[in-house]
Amino acid sequence: MEVFYNVDEIKSYLSSLVLKDQKIGFVPTMGALHDGHLQLVKEAHKLDDINVVSIFVNPTQFNNPSDLKNYPRDLEGDLKKLKSASANIIFVPKEKDIYALPLPDQYNFGGLDKCMEGTFRPGHFNGVAMVVHRLFDIIRPNHAYFGEKDFQQLAIIQYLNQSWPYQTKIIPVPIVREIDGLAMSSRNMRLSDEERKVAPMIYKTLVELIDKIRQYSVQQLKAEFVSIIDKVPFLKTEYIEIVDQTTLQLLKDWNDASDKIICVAVFCGEVRLIDNIKINS
Ligand code: AMP
Repeated sequence: MEVFYNVDEIKSYLSSLVLKDQKIGFVPTMGALHDGHLQLVKEAHKLDDINVVSIFVNPTQFNNPSDLKNYPRDLEGDLKKLKSASANIIFVPKEKDIYALPLPDQYNFGGLDKCMEGTFRPGHFNGVAMVVHRLFDIIRPNHAYFGEKDFQQLAIIQYLNQSWPYQTKIIPVPIVREIDGLAMSSRNMRLSDEERKVAPMIYKTLVELIDKIRQYSVQQLKAEFVSIIDKVPFLKTEYIEIVDQTTLQLLKDWNDASDKIICVAVFCGEVRLIDNIKINS
């Protein structure tokens, strides 16, 4: 496993691999790694000869300064986990290198940013787009792996990637969960013991509601989720939306889309958790 901190060094190393016709898989992360991230590395091993994992806590995608300040950081632990997952190349860029060259001030997301995270985290997707754009430009991957946990982010990257010149294929990876159903997240380590006990209610409630979906209209299901979740100590729903999996258009009626997804953001104490569940036709 090689660790690079410098843009020019990783670029020249990767171009030597491209000359040998090696396929490059890329896994962008913000560190504080867990098995969800490592699953992306596993998927990269299946399709690519060499994988690159970046670790960069990107300040421009945090709309809340205290979230950025409290975001967990553990480079040493991350490198150990990556080594045991047989990751090949780790890239740990500096902020000044990522933002050294001009990037668009405002990306066009084709309307995909008009709901959910886009509404509640203004500027978030622009920050995500900037860092992914710059990282793709440095790494020029054949495949880039993104988790379905951040479903709206994945849709936005797929959209942007169509107009980028890097010939990268985006590979979605299903959500990896703890045994009790809680979606793995770097933010979970900020939960107190009591909060951690109730956090799995988010996914459990989604599963239970989907089981009884025929009993509800779209609006009733959303209301029922809020009513169950907001009664649980520490939990408070920020949003629940049911959207078309491709266009992210909000559904008013179950017949508005064939493949749908329920996306939620719920505060567990001070920690904001997101999750989703697909409803396929
Ligand atoms: P982050 O470090 O939170 O920016 O996440 C880096 C990548 O890992 C993103 O593509 C996430 O969607 C993905 N990811 C995070 N948590 C999970 C999970 N529980 N299952 C699958 N992918 C995940």
